[in-house]
Amino acid sequence: MHNDAHFGTRAVHAGQAPDPSTGAVMTPIYMTSTYAQPTPGEFKGEYDYSRSANPTRTALEANLAALENANHALTFSSGCAALACILHTLTSGDHVVVCDDVYGGTFRIYDKVFKQLGIDFTQVDMTDLNATAAAMTDRTKMVWIETPTNPLLKVIDIKAVADIGHAKGAFVCVDNTFATPYLQNPLDLGADIVSHSSTKYIGGHSDIVGGALMTKDDELHERLKFYQNAVGATPSAFDCFLLLRSTKTLHVRMQRHCESGRAIAEMLEASSKVKSVVYPGLPSHPQHEIAKKQMRDFGGMVTLTLDTDLAGTRRFLEALRVFTIAESLGGVESLVDHPAIMTHASVPAEQRAQLGIADSLIRLSVGIEDIADLKADIEHALSAI
Ligand SMILES: *Cc1c(COP(=O)(O)O)cnc(C)c1O
Repeated sequence: MHNDAHFGTRAVHAGQAPDPSTGAVMTPIYMTSTYAQPTPGEFKGEYDYSRSANPTRTALEANLAALENANHALTFSSGCAALACILHTLTSGDHVVVCDDVYGGTFRIYDKVFKQLGIDFTQVDMTDLNATAAAMTDRTKMVWIETPTNPLLKVIDIKAVADIGHAKGAFVCVDNTFATPYLQNPLDLGADIVSHSSTKYIGGHSDIVGGALMTKDDELHERLKFYQNAVGATPSAFDCFLLLRSTKTLHVRMQRHCESGRAIAEMLEASSKVKSVVYPGLPSHPQHEIAKKQMRDFGGMVTLTLDTDLAGTRRFLEALRVFTIAESLGGVESLVDHPAIMTHASVPAEQRAQLGIADSLIRLSVGIEDIADLKADIEHALSAI
């Protein structure tokens, strides 16, 4: 229905017509595992068992597909389950090229789970297109891009890397968790699959763990849907309902995340206590031009390196009152992460050092609280270093 409408209208309505039996405006939570069959083997539409399909999930999947300009979406019980679903389409001997600065859990699933099954992977700095092309082999079946990356917020040229992958016959996936479909639509830039941890901005309230995959490709969708059902890491109807409630405000929340993210980045860049700030919206960002080309705005994630040691960094973190020290990101509340100790502890120390994840590096997820309070909180914590 509303697929030609603008983003905010799709966010509120796509996939959700009033319930035909009652007129309920909000999609009901269909807490059922199974469905009555009038005669064996005959059932309504696609509904025979809730691992395979559930009406609340169908509504969410249609909504998410509309937000990514996709034809199909599949949802999962976590972002990692969505990634695992894609990896199940590969077989032993296949090779994957992955950007170097990926989410810690993404690195772990490649390195500790699928490598054992014979799927090789090579990590490469995808801001370097020559190095990316050189990492492809005759066995490369898939390219995994995350942009902006986590936690260094490198911006990868999706179209350029997709062209490199397609020239080798590989399919190209983009983890769009940090940007969200509000800021960037990888499928329109040539990607074959978009993946999300809906735990983050899509959920937006730090109350849900979930994942999603979107594609325009019918055949790829059918293969992924097979694994979604066969492996079975599907979300509950209740989680789907909460996510439907979340996507209705995605555009409004993202506007504020972007506005405040920029304000905090500018403030930090001007501080003598801060060695460097990474924010794709700052002209000082090394890939600012690519960010301007493929993103509509620059999001709420800000990474900074304090001009101090680990002890000073701890004093800064412990002095914060509005920002909460916690893993995760993308919620309405501001969070702060120390990647080396927290989210990226599973990345070997040597590789962390190589990537530039120093002990004084901090990642902010700027929430939607009043910007004056966020600024005052950071000013106060900087004075505690
Ligand atoms: C959190 C996250 C994931 C993993 O998602 P879960 O929902 O925690 O399983 C994957 N990619 C990125 C970029 C993330 O931030």
